[in-house]
Amino acid sequence: MSPRARTVGFQSGERNIFFHILTACNLSCRHCYINKEQHGTEMLSRATMERWLELFADPAKKANVIFLGGEPTMHPDLVHGITKAKELGFDVTVDSNGYLFHDLLEKSSPEQLDFLSFSLDGPDASVNDPIRGEGVYEICTANMRKAVSAGYNVSVIYTVSSLNIKHLHRMIPLLTEIGIKRFFIQVIGLRGNSASENTDGFNWQVSPDEWLAIVPAVAAQAADAGIHVTFPKVFLQKDEKFECAGIVAENYFIFPNGRVYRCPLCEDHPIHALTIRDDKLIVSPGLTEDNFFQLNIAEGCVMNKLLQPDTISYDAQGNPEHRISCCLLKQEILPE
Ligand code: SF4
Ligand code: SF4
Repeated sequence: MSPRARTVGFQSGERNIFFHILTACNLSCRHCYINKEQHGTEMLSRATMERWLELFADPAKKANVIFLGGEPTMHPDLVHGITKAKELGFDVTVDSNGYLFHDLLEKSSPEQLDFLSFSLDGPDASVNDPIRGEGVYEICTANMRKAVSAGYNVSVIYTVSSLNIKHLHRMIPLLTEIGIKRFFIQVIGLRGNSASENTDGFNWQVSPDEWLAIVPAVAAQAADAGIHVTFPKVFLQKDEKFECAGIVAENYFIFPNGRVYRCPLCEDHPIHALTIRDDKLIVSPGLTEDNFFQLNIAEGCVMNKLLQPDTISYDAQGNPEHRISCCLLKQEILPE
């Protein structure tokens, strides 16, 4: 573990709204986690988007809204949603695949849109495009450059998998050259397409040893290059406390069919804790993710143990070699 990495604890009094305003996308990434059977195919109307934002606005809390899809810039009313979210006091982020439909850069502004994130999974087309699609690298990086020149606060999200972990370090010169100061490294989840490819014998996941050998070191190098890097904690040290964000944090993952999850690992299952019905937020009946958050197990995150047991290894005595942290727990390294 890099000695410079600081764990970013869950902030009480802070609320994060991960708002999927549609599930449609122009791309078909191999690891796409969108599951239309579970998340719906609707595109929220402008009026619904407004009312649902109002449901989660709380002037007493620092609140962030992250517009997601599918590809959120395919929504013709995204700019309207950004303006509404700003009026309600949210800090606003858009996570895009880089295509920036509907002239987002021209129609919004760095004053309205606090953060614009681009997903890129390789430092060149030969690494990125087999994962995200032919021609995606060119378009995504060209639009990143435009966004930087237009004064937006631009970040890049890199989803680490067995296909691209060896190329992670080569992102540093690319980000530096484009002028990007914020880098989010994510770990591939076993959901959506990545889950089905795993069952077909392809293994997307990186081993704990590989993750620990590469990711913290690259994050430190990126920070040395002046980039603020955030990456998942994944493995807890022996003396570190386990906390489930479903209990200690306020995260809401909203889908266009009205499902609202508290934990992203649960999103492929109809166990959402909350539901929006007739523009009201109601507690879902029956067995929901909330019931799992309470379980205290030696392996750490209970949903990881239930849904991704292959990620846990055990010693000769049957004890887990690593406790897995909440998937929402992050570490960061700031430039010095
Ligand atoms: S850009 Fe996002 S939503 Fe679209 S296919 Fe890729 S991972 Fe899925
Ligand atoms: S990932 Fe695990 S620890 Fe985090 S909210 Fe979900 S169940 Fe809780």
